[in-house]
Amino acid sequence: MTVIAYGAQAADRALEPMHINRRAPGAHDVAIDIAYCGVCHSDLHQVRSEWAGTLYPCVPGHEIVGTVAAVGAHVQGFQVGDLVGVGCMVDSCRHCADCEAGLENYCDGMVGTYNGPTADAPGHTLGGYSQSIVVDQHFVLRIRHPQEQLAAVAPLLCAGITTWSPLRHWQAGPGKTVGIVGIGGLGHMGIKLARAMGAHVVAFTTSESKRADAEALGANEVVVSRDAAAMAAWASRLDLIINTVAAPHDLDAFLTLLKRDGTMVLVGAPPSPHPSPQVFNLIIRRRALAGSMIGGIPETQEMLDFCAAHGITADIEMIRADQINGAFERMLKGDVKYRFVIDSATLAQAAA
Ligand code: NAP
Ligand code: ZN
Ligand code: ZN
Repeated sequence: MTVIAYGAQAADRALEPMHINRRAPGAHDVAIDIAYCGVCHSDLHQVRSEWAGTLYPCVPGHEIVGTVAAVGAHVQGFQVGDLVGVGCMVDSCRHCADCEAGLENYCDGMVGTYNGPTADAPGHTLGGYSQSIVVDQHFVLRIRHPQEQLAAVAPLLCAGITTWSPLRHWQAGPGKTVGIVGIGGLGHMGIKLARAMGAHVVAFTTSESKRADAEALGANEVVVSRDAAAMAAWASRLDLIINTVAAPHDLDAFLTLLKRDGTMVLVGAPPSPHPSPQVFNLIIRRRALAGSMIGGIPETQEMLDFCAAHGITADIEMIRADQINGAFERMLKGDVKYRFVIDSATLAQAAA
């Protein structure tokens, strides 16, 4: 089936409307009419080939929500009309230790929702800036939020799970003081989730103008990271830091805020490296520096169910498909509160 999508033909080209093919659903597939798709900073990195290996045409988008349009003969648990989501992955090997642990995100055979290998034309996967998608049932998530919140659920599929997974793994909760660095798409979800888990949340931002928002999102304290005195006041006080910043920066400024045995988890994935941190900031107080990539399917469903139960969604700004290039520029300036979401109903109009 041919559907309308928005994507780029080359790293230095703007995104434009295009027609792409979606396979007929196989026995284990779920065909989804996409209602909304969030705009992740990873979409921008990849469509502009800031990370190695982008294949063109590139149709980004891995914060997908919509309605089941058709199911294959062997699909169990999904029916036409169900509200569903698809995140950053559409396949994996299914039998390695990572897959068996429900951590398909760490499988060597993980297939990204876009730019991953597939038998479907054009030979790499095409993402959610499109009218529909066909995905194996294993990688389809159930959405239990009310229909009217659907657009604001979309960012949970990447920004939500990417912060949820390390918060759970490093046991954020009551009695823990958790720093969230960078208040963008990921960071604003990190604040909401860490607070809902019962942690004491300290938001770190370069933008004084985000102070009131950070408090409204659930931060117990807000620190402007450009203010050296304010940073010094937090020395050796944090158990865990989730660092979402999308650009290289001084990691030592944050490592020194960790308590003994505290961990800073890098989830931001800048195209060029951070300056190497000082070893002494790690060895004194036995601090750790770690990374984390999205999350597995079971923990993504756990996060979605937790958010439905606690009434948690993203703070979004809805855009038309033809506003995507301007939205990328605004995201680079940190000018988004706090996630752009494409209304997929505008794709047809953009292509007309
Ligand atoms: P975003 O909405 O653009 O937010 C990034 C935030 O970082 C900004 O809002 C800003 O917050 C802060 N920042 C400070 N200095 C910056 C600078 N020089 N350039 C850019 N941002 C700066 O991005 P996002 O969608 O949350 O994604 C953040 C990063 O995580 C990206 O690199 C993305 O590729 C990566 N990511 C990783 C995973 C994973 O699995 N590990 C998953 C998704 C995304 P303040 O204004 O508060 O300082
Ligand atoms: Zn993402
Ligand atoms: Zn595997």
